[in-house]
Amino acid sequence: MTRLAAGGRIEAICGCMYSGKTEELIRRLHHVTIARQKLAAFTPRRDTRYASGTLVSHNGVKIEARTIDSVHNIRQHLDHGVQVVAIDELHFLDDPAEEVRAVCQQLADDGYRVIVAGLDQDFRAEPFPAMAALLAVAEQADKLYAICVCCGAYATRSQRLIDGAPAPTAAPTIAVGGLELYEARCRACFLQPM
Ligand code: ADP
Ligand code: ZN
Repeated sequence: MTRLAAGGRIEAICGCMYSGKTEELIRRLHHVTIARQKLAAFTPRRDTRYASGTLVSHNGVKIEARTIDSVHNIRQHLDHGVQVVAIDELHFLDDPAEEVRAVCQQLADDGYRVIVAGLDQDFRAEPFPAMAALLAVAEQADKLYAICVCCGAYATRSQRLIDGAPAPTAAPTIAVGGLELYEARCRACFLQPM
């Protein structure tokens, strides 16, 4: 039997748009710096919402991050002493879900605390495969909620709108945008794309 490196674990933070995933990730990473541990934060290149290379929550709190094109680029950027690896906006990674899962599992087996944050569902309310896989294998999984802009209930879904109407189901899975493109909605207020 092989014993894996101590301390390794996976934490998955998921939810719909505006549920506070980035805020929660930044809160955990802030604690990491207070504990004087070394971290490496990554964000897929796709997210052009804000200045690349920085994790920014909707309320403006920031943490430095490196942009990556693939989950396979993470290892080469882990300097000596790094204990915590964070990936924000996991859903923007192009890699197949099984590769994302394998890389995160290997990092955790090697003793890293891996914290991932991202959407659990796309605009059709279909699961994002990489997040679904990591939620299954994570030591800690947290699902956050936003507030439904229609009724004020807890929102679990991200409604993509084009001129006020739901985007068609054939639209691309990824479309980068904020309040002009997406609304947080509950199950009852969510309009299923056709
Ligand atoms: P995420 O990473 O999940 O998209 P952020 O951490 O970037 O979320 O932003 C969360 C913040 O978004 C909240 O603290 C709040 O200020 C703001 N916000 C905007 N719209 C909503 C909404 N409908 N429900 C909840 N928070 C919202
Ligand atoms: Zn609602």
